[in-house]
Amino acid sequence: MDKRDYYEILGVSRSASLDEIKKAYRRLAVKYHPDKNPGDKTAEEKFKEATEAYEVLKDDSKRQIYDRYGHQGLAGGGFGGFGDFGFDLGDALRAFMRDFGGFGFENFFGETTTARQRAGPQRGRDLQVKLKLSLEEIATGVEKTIRIKRLVVCDRCNGSGLEKGTSKRTCPRCNGTGQQKTVTRSFFGQFVNISTCPYCSGTGKIIEKPCLACAGNGRIKGQSEIKVKIPQGVSSGNYIPVRSAGDVGPHGGPAGDVLVIIEEKEHSIFTRHGDDIICEQAINFSKAALGAHIEVPTLDGKVNLKIPAGTQSGRVFRLRGKGIPHLNGYGRGDQLVRVLVITPTKLSAQEKELFMRLAELQKNQPLNTDKSFFEKLRQTLGV
Ligand SMILES: [Zn+2]
Ligand SMILES: [Zn+2]
Repeated sequence: MDKRDYYEILGVSRSASLDEIKKAYRRLAVKYHPDKNPGDKTAEEKFKEATEAYEVLKDDSKRQIYDRYGHQGLAGGGFGGFGDFGFDLGDALRAFMRDFGGFGFENFFGETTTARQRAGPQRGRDLQVKLKLSLEEIATGVEKTIRIKRLVVCDRCNGSGLEKGTSKRTCPRCNGTGQQKTVTRSFFGQFVNISTCPYCSGTGKIIEKPCLACAGNGRIKGQSEIKVKIPQGVSSGNYIPVRSAGDVGPHGGPAGDVLVIIEEKEHSIFTRHGDDIICEQAINFSKAALGAHIEVPTLDGKVNLKIPAGTQSGRVFRLRGKGIPHLNGYGRGDQLVRVLVITPTKLSAQEKELFMRLAELQKNQPLNTDKSFFEKLRQTLGV
């Protein structure tokens, strides 16, 4: 485990005040937030790293342990250390939202940001769902309804986990404190760890007679529908958090979030390249030679494209602003139309006659075969 120094990550001195730590973290978190850097793994790592550093340094007791024993001091259980597993993106996003509120995508839901409760009943699991979108939907933005299988509040006991007419009694393991003390000895000395009592899950009370529908857990399998507003210009791997739409917590605990992960469907005509889209358009010999106006499909419907006389196969035409709108910004990418000149395979008698006359005319005419011509052709064909 070669982790970077937490102070170094946040760029603060070892004597930095809580305020300085907060400011430094906020600056980094806003810069590297995944909503602002869609699909950027490096930014995601930096966001997680900064959040982990912040989570430790903002907490007095964790900071003291870190100052004295470094990363190793936090690796053990009981101090809320992150172990070797680090913490995942969901944890980092929650930590950021808890202290600073969301931004960016959050605005789409018109939610006000609320600080998340830290103690109290256990929070439910976050869920991830994939959402497949067509290029057209990505170009215009879309609102989708998604059905989600999740744990919901048990309707028999209303989440309490109690069978009707029964009540709870004080947990005999922790005498109602909800906490468990364990003493561990390590290289660094003796630590008293205070953790949640596993017998009563920190509630201090245990259920005498569990609810028959949920076995005392307070939750049952269910499903619900969520509406998600997808902004223009998303791409595969972008995700949209929907808060409190995940599993509810046990015994009436708050619900986790849903991360809706975008997946782009393959398009029959267009290939996406960043915010540009690419398509191929076949034209025949005569149009390439004489020039023509052809109809080209775009995401907004058909448009007219002027093919100048003497167009070579493989030439690329750019339709400005016909690509995918930029995510979180203004403007759109372009559409690139690669024209392919098709050699006819079946000729009618009349066409054959005309081609023969043409061949006769061109018999003694040298082809334009200077080097620059082939060079240009190679460039447009990309070979
Ligand atoms: Zn129940
Ligand atoms: Zn207990």
